[in-house]
Amino acid sequence: MRKIIFATTNEGKMDEIREILKDMDIELLSLKDAGLDPDIVENGKTFEENAIIKAKAVMEMTGKMVLADDSGLEVDYLNKAPGIYSARFLGVDTPYSIKNHYILDQLRNVKGKDRSARFVCVIALALPKGEIITRSGVVEGVIADKISGANGFGYDPIFYLPEYQCTTAELSPEHKNKISHRGIALSAMKEVLKKHIS
Ligand code: IMP
Repeated sequence: MRKIIFATTNEGKMDEIREILKDMDIELLSLKDAGLDPDIVENGKTFEENAIIKAKAVMEMTGKMVLADDSGLEVDYLNKAPGIYSARFLGVDTPYSIKNHYILDQLRNVKGKDRSARFVCVIALALPKGEIITRSGVVEGVIADKISGANGFGYDPIFYLPEYQCTTAELSPEHKNKISHRGIALSAMKEVLKKHIS
């Protein structure tokens, strides 16, 4: 069975990725599963650049097919912050309850469509011969008025989907996978993987 490393240490993401790729004939390893603890400097200026930096670095270390993603939340009223700094926003160890309350507070006088925001995800595949392929996914929503929901992770409790009238933290994991930025990018990447594995 073909081994593919997904260059992440985030177990929440790994669960989502395993679920989406479960019907493929591949063994998907996280960095931990592969016994790796690389110190990669994510100094790209876009989600795409950062995903490529991570996938390429781990492919060069292992010689294996490597997938990596970079994702985050863009809030239009905050000039698309936290964007590529989503994980580091207000400090990498700051609890999301504080990060989420901070964003709600910044938008306390902002109404309706001006609360627009999106989750963005870019997935990069680095092939051992050096080729890099990327796919992306976006889910549009608005910043909620309050924190709601216990599923998901990160900014899910403040990301409201008008179409479903709930936050992404109130969706079941299966439902989130179907409609999320990561779900969309991974489904597109699945088609790429099918070609490269056969
Ligand atoms: P990355 O691991 O560098 O891609 O950082 C992604 C960060 O963006 C996460 O740590 C979260 O803060 C945020 N993020 C990305 N995807 C999601 C999601 O599906 N729900 C909530 N927050 C997310």
